[in-house]
Amino acid sequence: MKICIVGGGPAGLYFAILMKQLDPSQEITILERDGPNDTFGWGIVFSDQTFGYLESSDAPSFTRIVESCQTWDNVDIVHHGEKVSIHGNRFSGIARLAFLNILHARCRELGVDVRFGTNITDRTQLPPHDLLVGADGANSLLRQWFSDGLRPTIDRRKNRYIWLGTPRLFHGLTLTFHATEAGPFASHAYKFSETASTFIVECAEETWARAELEGKSGEETCAYLEEVFADDLHGEPLLTNNFVRWINFPLVKNQHWQDGNVVLLGDALHTAHFSIGSGTKLALEDAIALAQAFEANPRIDAALPAFERARKAIVDRLQDAAESSLVWFEQMGDYLHLPPLPFAYEAMTRSGRVDREKLRKRDPKFVAAYERGAANDD
Ligand SMILES: Cc1cc2nc3c(=O)[nH]c(=O)nc-3n(C[C@H](O)[C@H](O)[C@H](O)COP(=O)(O)OP(=O)(O)OC[C@H]3O[C@@H](n4cnc5c(N)ncnc54)[C@H](O)[C@@H]3O)c2cc1C
Repeated sequence: MKICIVGGGPAGLYFAILMKQLDPSQEITILERDGPNDTFGWGIVFSDQTFGYLESSDAPSFTRIVESCQTWDNVDIVHHGEKVSIHGNRFSGIARLAFLNILHARCRELGVDVRFGTNITDRTQLPPHDLLVGADGANSLLRQWFSDGLRPTIDRRKNRYIWLGTPRLFHGLTLTFHATEAGPFASHAYKFSETASTFIVECAEETWARAELEGKSGEETCAYLEEVFADDLHGEPLLTNNFVRWINFPLVKNQHWQDGNVVLLGDALHTAHFSIGSGTKLALEDAIALAQAFEANPRIDAALPAFERARKAIVDRLQDAAESSLVWFEQMGDYLHLPPLPFAYEAMTRSGRVDREKLRKRDPKFVAAYERGAANDD
């Protein structure tokens, strides 16, 4: 089989690796717009569960990924300048670039033809193929080309966010909230290497407008946000990594996941808000599920529907949880009057995936402190 994959992000690269393992005679080409060392963003996070899937799917890349990861088990919620730590949430962070470089090397070892610097704008650029995979991210061109069959919807959400970095090390996933004259700001920060943390900032559209952030340069944007988060950054700067853009989160869904011999994977197929840190996890698990569908049904017309059947309900559930989390951040202003402990409880249970009993298992001390506070208020 000849496979053409548009997009060499986590979804496209990992699918290529798994399909080559399945049958080394398959001809797999990845067409990627960027070079091997260009990437947007800073670090990404994985849960222990995702690690389990990666270990059983491709041990050589897994070993290298683990060596490059920073691990923690706490979520810290900072509100009114007070930090509440909740333990029992094991996560690992890795630089997106380090992660992609590990997958590039694995593709080379297995004989995948990765063509960097190839921006697809027209169908005539595609090499001959039996299967065409759209792994070209949230703004997928392939999704547009095949929209009649795939029936996508894209809901651009209300909050604005920007993905920054900082040399200040946040040991654990740290959610920080500040009410300013312009309105509330939230940051999502975690270290992903020995020397750097991801620092995502989000705020309501109106806050962003009142803060006059439109049209500001990268430096001006960082300078403004360094003041908002001065108490948290301990004098360290915010950095932009050539990616200074405030975005309205695009919530992507597709009614159908395949159209003839075309299938979508990862962010092209579905997005999940970064507040539940699951975009890369979903992209990799899609790749695993599609490769498994080919293992069980080598014919394209059987494998693609099998992939959709096996995976859609799982993705729908995760997207629902991510949407609840996203809406909570859109409405964060409604919770800011709460003292730090009940605020942290609201933040931890926002997606609906974690209830009080799950939280009690993870961190009984935190739940006991929350319940004592609630009892005293009654
Ligand atoms: C602010 C923010 C924070 C995030 N935080 C996390 C996190 O903590 N944890 C996590 O797991 N995920 C996180 N994500 C999500 C994560 O980045 C994506 O969900 C994940 O990378 C999806 O992988 P993908 O392979 O589907 O798409 P992408 O990583 O977007 O890859 C798509 C690739 O296709 C290429 N491409 C696009 N169009 C073309 C074209 N026309 N021709 C050729 N190539 C093309 C692009 O250059 C890119 O390399 C975050 C995302 C954002 C925006």
